[in-house]
Amino acid sequence: MSFDAIQYQPSAVRMLRAAVAHDRMPHAYLFVGPRGVGKGLAARELAKLLFCASPRGTDADTIDPCDRCDRCRRVDRGVHPDLYWFGKEEDRNDFRLPLVTRREGPDGTPAWLTVTVIESAALMPMEAARTVTVVDDAELLNRSAANALLKTLEEPSPHAVLVLLCADASRLPGTILSRCQWVRFRPLPEEFVAEKVRRVLAERVAAAEGEDEPAPVPSAAEIAYVCRFAGGSIERAADLAGSGLWDLKRALVARLPALDADAAFHMAQAVQDWGKALGRREGVKQDSTEGNAVRRRAARLALAAVASAFGDAALAAVDRDGGARLVNADQRDVVETLASWPPDAWARAVALLVDGQTQIRRYVHTELATENALLQVSRLRPSV
Ligand SMILES: [Zn+2]
Repeated sequence: MSFDAIQYQPSAVRMLRAAVAHDRMPHAYLFVGPRGVGKGLAARELAKLLFCASPRGTDADTIDPCDRCDRCRRVDRGVHPDLYWFGKEEDRNDFRLPLVTRREGPDGTPAWLTVTVIESAALMPMEAARTVTVVDDAELLNRSAANALLKTLEEPSPHAVLVLLCADASRLPGTILSRCQWVRFRPLPEEFVAEKVRRVLAERVAAAEGEDEPAPVPSAAEIAYVCRFAGGSIERAADLAGSGLWDLKRALVARLPALDADAAFHMAQAVQDWGKALGRREGVKQDSTEGNAVRRRAARLALAAVASAFGDAALAAVDRDGGARLVNADQRDVVETLASWPPDAWARAVALLVDGQTQIRRYVHTELATENALLQVSRLRPSV
């Protein structure tokens, strides 16, 4: 691995290389961009470059970690004592401090050590000149964790580099955002993502060979849609392909031009059914905590899919030559109908649907919250 392996992010890579080459490391970085576009890889390469015993190249265009020295290898294995990597646990919507990170024990074997983000950023480096603390999904830090983090940012240790990885900067307090140097990661090109997704799916089909239920093979149109919906994230698109989201969103979006209370009810039912189908496929009991979590996730995705149609409408309304890249390009006729709704209706619809997702995240009854969000959107529909 080297920085060159991080594709389609030339400005982010150049910025990081330049900071190391000119020894101008900020105390804190914010890597902003969709999931799965290389933020984590870039954070790891940055740590390697800072720790590496004999980096290659010296200038901002070529400097790279050697990838061979003991320090580089330990970063790759996630056991370098000066690299702290924090992420949320599976199936949690937020995370709090303290967290656990993996460290190498004195005899070289991996050991578990509990350390908080705050503590890690205050610790003296053990081997390198600096410590690197990476917080993945930083926007999911809960409020008290974010406040604690702010204190660290206000009084940074000269030995620490903090790297926050984040897909949605609007969910972090402005006081944190303003204290970080921003590095923007762009969505990956559509065709590149689609090709990668096809490869991941092919591997999945190969792995499932011989099982009773073969993995569904999504159509090209479905793959194109999930790539756009996932904002260019390969990982997310591959998860959504073949999940049934495609069929569901086609049905939901098709109903939007005639959205009324009755439609909202039936749409919420369809969303609920999809959540149950996902639960069956994941082998969880429907009335268990896991089953509930799957249905909540499904409902949030479904509301996001509906919201994307209104986002498209806003784009289509100003798109004179029809060249805008719509998420719901496969349902352009519906999008164009929505584009004829009053301009403030699109933004309000998106806000209501985002609010619905928040309600579901806060454990409001999933089906009711889904129906209610759609019902409120139906009131924005102009009377004919
Ligand atoms: Zn090295």
